[in-house]
Amino acid sequence: MTFSQRETFLPFSRPSISLEDIDAVKDVLASGWITTGPKVAAFEEAFAGKVGCKNAVALASATAGMHLIIMALGIGPGDEVITPSMTWVSTVNLIVLSGATPVFVDVDKDTLMAPPENFQAAMTHRTKLMIPVHFAGAAADVAPLREIAGRAGVEIVEDAAHALGTKCGGIPVGRKGHAIFSFHPIKNITTGEGGMFCTDQEEMARRIRSLRFHGLGVDAYDRSVQGRSPQAEVLEPGFKYNMTDMAAALGISQLARLDSLNARRKALAMLYRERLSRIPELIPLKDPPCDMEHSWHLFIVRLDIRKAGISRYDFMRRLKERNIGTGIHFMAVHTQRYYRETMPIRPGALPNSEWNSERIMSLPLFPDMTEDDLNDVIDAAKEALVR
Ligand SMILES: *Cc1c(COP(=O)(O)O)cnc(C)c1O
Repeated sequence: MTFSQRETFLPFSRPSISLEDIDAVKDVLASGWITTGPKVAAFEEAFAGKVGCKNAVALASATAGMHLIIMALGIGPGDEVITPSMTWVSTVNLIVLSGATPVFVDVDKDTLMAPPENFQAAMTHRTKLMIPVHFAGAAADVAPLREIAGRAGVEIVEDAAHALGTKCGGIPVGRKGHAIFSFHPIKNITTGEGGMFCTDQEEMARRIRSLRFHGLGVDAYDRSVQGRSPQAEVLEPGFKYNMTDMAAALGISQLARLDSLNARRKALAMLYRERLSRIPELIPLKDPPCDMEHSWHLFIVRLDIRKAGISRYDFMRRLKERNIGTGIHFMAVHTQRYYRETMPIRPGALPNSEWNSERIMSLPLFPDMTEDDLNDVIDAAKEALVR
């Protein structure tokens, strides 16, 4: 078989690293202080300023943040935590590891976000926490969820791993309540690995700060001198989830470019929408109804298996043969082996999650991608769909 093929592989994501980013990390390496120090403090301050949250705590990953907040909220055996099954596995793993029971809710078929009514319907007297996910860079509808949760005394932690720069009704995701961001290399900005916990509660920020570093008492003075104070004592057993200054320096440099990186993502996403309107087998997501600034973390399509006459994996393989990478975000957690075996869910109980789980894929989208790259994706997709 012959087909047109790009010379180089186009991954579905690639970090955008500038010369300034590299210089920022080099400076830290040459400075004599490479672990948690002044760069982490500066990154937290800049991040809090950008998102407009009262407190930002830098961590080794978003997963680390989810671990710490679940622990800090006292979630454990007998408690239920409600989350969509359309999420990254780390959230559900941590719920299970805490001893609590995950309760899955279905998502809207075309936004992949769970409507507040679905959370409400899943609540019981055991519900302690709800974890909505801002999907692909769009904003989840958290305002009504906050009211529902507030009335019932239930906590909310927003998974904002996809939503740095996302706004709903002019308000940035992460400004209110508890939210977690990720700086994994595919996310909108990266620190290699890293995460940020944002909260409007001073006391919770203090607790997470302590838990990220062995549970030692850390006060403003410790932070201002950036050294470990000899009198720091364990207040409660904690973890080792701090961010390094090398990572934070990269984060500061990346954060300064967030608006332009996201603007580039958006321009590419608009081109995709326009080009895909002529490929009926590929169904893009729809925007949720809020007045939104989308951060375009991912460009997701669903393959219409019936129209295409091939499976999602066959289609992805055909794209790969044409040097086009794709990703899957996500396979519904309840369909994965451990969860199938330990908490079997009746097929059809989460119909929209299952429908999407079998059809979903993320097309290449990253700031350094060119319009030619995007046209290669579209051409390859058209070819791959020819029977
Ligand atoms: C990436 C991601 C995470 C985890 O982030 P890490 O920094 O890799 O721990 C959590 N939730 C969602 C929705 C993600 O996409």
